[in-house]
Amino acid sequence: MENYTQILNEKFPGLRLNCEINQRGILTVSGECGNWEQLVDIGHAAAKLGGVKNVVSEMTVKGLVIPVKDYSAFKHNGQAIGTVEYVDVLIIGAGISGCAVARELSKYRLNILVTDMADDIATGATKANNGNIHPGHAVAPGTLKATLNFKGNRMYTQWAEDLGFDLRRCGAMGAVTDEQLIPMLQKAYDIAKLNGVDGVELVDAKRAYELEPGLARNNHKDIVGALWLPSLGLVEPYKVATALAENAAENGVRFLFNCTVADILHEDGAVRGAVTNKGIIHATYVINCAGVYADEISAMAGDKCYTIHPRKGVIAILDKRRTPIYNSLTEVFTLESVKEMSAKKNAESKGGGMCYTPEGNILMGPSAIEIPNKEDLSTTPEDLDYAMGRGSHISYSDVIRFFAGVRAADFTEDFIIEMSPITDGFINVGGIQSPGLAAAPAIAEMVEGILVKSAGKRGAPPAPNPNYNPVRKREIEFRHLSREAQDELIRQNPSYGRIICRCESITEGEILEALRSPLRPASIDAIKRRTRAGMGRCQGGFCQSRVLEILARELGREWAEINLTGEGSNVLTTDNRPSCALCNGKQVNNA
Ligand SMILES: Cc1cc2nc3c(=O)[nH]c(=O)nc-3n(C[C@H](O)[C@H](O)[C@H](O)COP(=O)(O)OP(=O)(O)OC[C@H]3O[C@@H](n4cnc5c(N)ncnc54)[C@H](O)[C@@H]3O)c2cc1C
Repeated sequence: MENYTQILNEKFPGLRLNCEINQRGILTVSGECGNWEQLVDIGHAAAKLGGVKNVVSEMTVKGLVIPVKDYSAFKHNGQAIGTVEYVDVLIIGAGISGCAVARELSKYRLNILVTDMADDIATGATKANNGNIHPGHAVAPGTLKATLNFKGNRMYTQWAEDLGFDLRRCGAMGAVTDEQLIPMLQKAYDIAKLNGVDGVELVDAKRAYELEPGLARNNHKDIVGALWLPSLGLVEPYKVATALAENAAENGVRFLFNCTVADILHEDGAVRGAVTNKGIIHATYVINCAGVYADEISAMAGDKCYTIHPRKGVIAILDKRRTPIYNSLTEVFTLESVKEMSAKKNAESKGGGMCYTPEGNILMGPSAIEIPNKEDLSTTPEDLDYAMGRGSHISYSDVIRFFAGVRAADFTEDFIIEMSPITDGFINVGGIQSPGLAAAPAIAEMVEGILVKSAGKRGAPPAPNPNYNPVRKREIEFRHLSREAQDELIRQNPSYGRIICRCESITEGEILEALRSPLRPASIDAIKRRTRAGMGRCQGGFCQSRVLEILARELGREWAEINLTGEGSNVLTTDNRPSCALCNGKQVNNA
């Protein structure tokens, strides 16, 4: 057995670290370090030591209070309410992982409940990412990430067909301008091959110009070779999660929002359910898809086996008037740019460059910043500079919004998907950082395998759901219809003739359709994720009040009760004139 304490203290002189490893290879590191970056470095170094399966950090940082979520009030509430549900499967988290798992398991005759502490699906990392269905070339071979990435990428074609969302397989290209960089391409190609990436090719300059006409259009006359990855796809991530959740709901899965899991019930080595602020939910299986909080949920289940170190990424969205300069996601590498990149720390988390969404908005970034606070979604001018860094031709005036998402990285930088060996029936879906979106179909399939195997062992294999239908009807997107189809639609239903969001041409009919969907959105941002109302250049400046009015009318609430995003984020709080009483919005002439 290695002396982990000695090794780490030698590697990080001046600190007094202490290590303890258990039989499963979970190494717990304690002691004080100088700053947050150092804590992350120590965690990474510890994860690389022989015999270590994963790392739990109990380290502190001098002069820094590491934020810790306090679940006690939620727990107290839930205990006071008592039992509210008995289910077969409780899924914690309605991001892409939780929604994918729910939809996969809806194939079976199981009573499934998904809980999320937010007021809607896709409010965590799932709403704040680049939407790239990565081919699988950029992940370390041999990792679970690598296996699930290429599989997931392949499975997206069927998902898009069944669930009715846009998947744009535009491909990706890494082109180089110097022969000295060919070995770099060769290395990337070899990794892609090892990872089973579909269709990957090393191409010469002539073929590179054929595959990506944007190279010539943008005066890149000096390309000497390229790596071509035709399987890269683009999606709107919240649309994928919505489609999954709606299809799961159509197949019998229930969702409970504003419901925070505050404790996991377990006894005699088996999971029994969870305590939430909305009461106690008894469950035979609990599946932990809680994103950045997955480590805390696992610890609640008696299985403290990893620590999430949050990694923030800032992305800038550009106005649609700025169109993508390449068809594929293309990056041109020069000797200089490669030198600059390799000078940065944490090779696995450098962040990205420029891509675009299926709707045509260019995304710049993300950055990759290690942060102590899992809920820190703040953005700074420096973050924006970083995100904009890879597009010298792009003006800041094209940016219509910039935002942050937080990746749920563990110290092995891999996914953790397993039945807990400590608490039977508790399944961890943790460490789901990038490429968690691309891998989601394969993650769901893996979880299904784990649960079905376990249920079989218990002598109760789940029966198929006789009513399971994998197909979800695609919603109407007025803006993409022909003029004739638009006219016909308006004739049938005049609400499609009322434009609510002018920037994106979103109609009242589409908002009403979203409000009548199997998972009714209840806030202005939830409507935005479903329909794009508010996603355009003016960012809701024009349509927000109209969406608010429709929401209030359709949900039977007062204007003042409508939230922007989540409980307590009411848009209207005080009357601005006596005749405009918030309690009776209908009196106001809003024309
Ligand atoms: C900037 C950025 C860019 C990225 N780009 C890409 C990309 O291009 N391609 C790609 O494949 N991946 C990308 N990723 C990674 C991808 O976004 C994530 O892997 C994926 O969204 C994780 O989904 P999830 O469902 O596991 O977690 P989340 O989406 O974070 O969902 C977790 C959910 O759990 C809920 N929750 C947490 N604790 C509790 C609790 N106690 N009780 C109830 N609910 C709880 C949260 O409210 C949340 O809704 C990116 C990530 C970031 C941040």
